[in-house]
Amino acid sequence: MIMGSGRFRAPKTLEVTLNDGGKRVLAADKVFLNVGTHAAIPNVPGLDAARPLTHVEALELDYLPPHLVVIGGGYVGLEMAQAYRRFGSDVTIIEPGHRLMGREDIDVSQEMQPILREEGIEVLLEAELLQVRGQSGERVGLVVRTAAGEQNIDGSDILIAAGRVPNTAGIGLEEAGVRLDSRGYVRVNGRLETSAPDVWAIGECAGSPQFTHISEDDFRIIRDNLAGKNRSTRDRLVAYCMFTDPLLAHVGLSEGEAERQGITIRVAKLPMNSVLGAQATEQRQGFMKALIGENDDRVLGFTMIGAEAAKSWPRCKQQCWQAFPIRRSLTPHSRIRRWLRG
Ligand SMILES: Cc1cc2nc3c(=O)[nH]c(=O)nc-3n(C[C@H](O)[C@H](O)[C@H](O)COP(=O)(O)OP(=O)(O)OC[C@H]3O[C@@H](n4cnc5c(N)ncnc54)[C@H](O)[C@@H]3O)c2cc1C
Repeated sequence: MIMGSGRFRAPKTLEVTLNDGGKRVLAADKVFLNVGTHAAIPNVPGLDAARPLTHVEALELDYLPPHLVVIGGGYVGLEMAQAYRRFGSDVTIIEPGHRLMGREDIDVSQEMQPILREEGIEVLLEAELLQVRGQSGERVGLVVRTAAGEQNIDGSDILIAAGRVPNTAGIGLEEAGVRLDSRGYVRVNGRLETSAPDVWAIGECAGSPQFTHISEDDFRIIRDNLAGKNRSTRDRLVAYCMFTDPLLAHVGLSEGEAERQGITIRVAKLPMNSVLGAQATEQRQGFMKALIGENDDRVLGFTMIGAEAAKSWPRCKQQCWQAFPIRRSLTPHSRIRRWLRG
């Protein structure tokens, strides 16, 4: 284990600037790039100079921001916004899109938004950040353009949660013959091989879905292929959770993806309020939604907003594994109904 920052000098040859001083050159038969991403800072006048928090600093704060302004209404932004609201901060979310969690189905965004608003979180949608003044951690003023006109927001701290940028710039990938796509991610095939022989890319820098378990699964695919198997990232099922309260869990197709892929589906949807367990524990917010094939009873996707959703998705994932064509058995409709009820 060598602690330092690596940069290619030639194909499969890296120079490492060591953390405790000095440099070291390493050459290898095989190279695995696993450099991850970092928080994107939007190009807005005054924003960078305001020294906004990213998730890194927000997870280490030793004070409570009186008024935290969160830039971005995606998964990281919402988790942090709710956590800080519950610690006692006033929280404002600024989201340029017309709804929160733009990658989710509309009903998911519509369910989550009032839950957050009821906790006292202010949500500004279709809000374009124009300018920032001041220093995060002291006092900040933000100018935002919304449908209702320009607004000034005064806050104490800014948290940026506006997407990720791959850590692929300035590390000599051109010298190594490793090509990038138009967004700066390493270009890979389904076996995670790059354009350079014997160089692979793993995890977020390879454009894989941005989850720890997917980065680990990328590793497994490469390991298995090196051992003579033939595995690919294509068509793998990606299960994930957003750790708000209630939780959001998803696996398989969403309605939007089914539409984009021209797959006709039936939708079985059940409000959590109808689930006896949710009634008994008074955790009634949210819903469960299963996407079922048009002509068979295969479960193609599952989404849940609700307490314990994180515990449900391994079960959903199992159901979806059974649904996809590579698997033998299909899921009978009666079992889905029983499972939704239970
Ligand atoms: C706030 C937040 C919450 C998240 N929550 C979840 C969650 O609940 N569940 C989940 O599954 N995922 C979550 N994720 C995503 C998850 O953290 C990432 O998908 C995962 O860490 C990506 O793994 P990786 O191996 O691609 O890269 P990383 O874990 O980012 O590792 C990359 C490493 O490479 C190092 N590096 C970069 N450049 C160089 C270089 N030139 N030389 C040497 N080293 C270098 C970096 O310092 C870093 O240590 C979250 C992410 C964020 C930001």
